[in-house]
Amino acid sequence: MHLPVHRSRTLALLVALLNGLLIGLPLLASGASAGSKLPSNISSGAVPGGIYRWSLPAGATDPKFNDRPVLVRSTEALVGIPLSQPLGMAEITYKVGEQIRSHSFQVNNKAYTEQHITLKNREMVNPNPDQLARIRRESSRQRALYLAFSDREPPQNGFLQPLEGRVSSLFGHRRFFNGQPRNPHSGLDIAAPAGTEIRAPAAAEVTLVDHLYYNGKTIFLDHGQGLVTMYCHLSKPLVKEGETVKQGQVIGLVGATGRATGPHLHWSVSLNGYRVDPESMMSALDTGTN
Ligand SMILES: [Zn+2]
Repeated sequence: MHLPVHRSRTLALLVALLNGLLIGLPLLASGASAGSKLPSNISSGAVPGGIYRWSLPAGATDPKFNDRPVLVRSTEALVGIPLSQPLGMAEITYKVGEQIRSHSFQVNNKAYTEQHITLKNREMVNPNPDQLARIRRESSRQRALYLAFSDREPPQNGFLQPLEGRVSSLFGHRRFFNGQPRNPHSGLDIAAPAGTEIRAPAAAEVTLVDHLYYNGKTIFLDHGQGLVTMYCHLSKPLVKEGETVKQGQVIGLVGATGRATGPHLHWSVSLNGYRVDPESMMSALDTGTN
């Protein structure tokens, strides 16, 4: 018995459709549970904690993400995506003349690993009320610095790693201190002997030099248009607030001040007020302008 050709095609289509549904269901289920098993989409770079690069359409001005202005270099917008960004579609708004338009892009999952750290100094895990008040004051000051959007020209000659050394903790690690969950790691840790020189990755204005509770001796650099970097746990800062630094200039020395288990640099990179992976920033600014 032979079925007419068109009927067997219809059957084959039905079988394929059913197979697709059966395969599709478990995929949907795992996606809905926000598991960390989905592969990250490396090509787009739009992942929580990453940088979304977007070529502005002709005539587009004033691009914004979550109502915050974003960095534009030549005709490309570099958009910082927060680690807390929900997966799925996200939106940039921009202007063409007086018209407001929007551009949608996909934010894909990235599986960040876990890290467990044991600290002997309990006050660094569970600070007392006075210490907590200080921590809150310091974090609102830092937040304001991260949200700054200066009209300084963004880096044109790449973005250097501030020192050579062993990467001891990656950006995005989900962290536990003495078994207690804490915020994900918002920077890159580079271990190096105390006293190692730390260099500015690009020209900048120094916007903070202070001794902070968790971060120890700390420097903030403003590189322009919402690109802000932070250097923590220094033994000695070598710059002053308000000073302008050149790319590659020594700004301080590695130490272990604040919440640190040994000498290392904690380096945070912030774009439009969100901490992003320093390694993505180095590669995003390395490719030059178009
Ligand atoms: Zn760190």
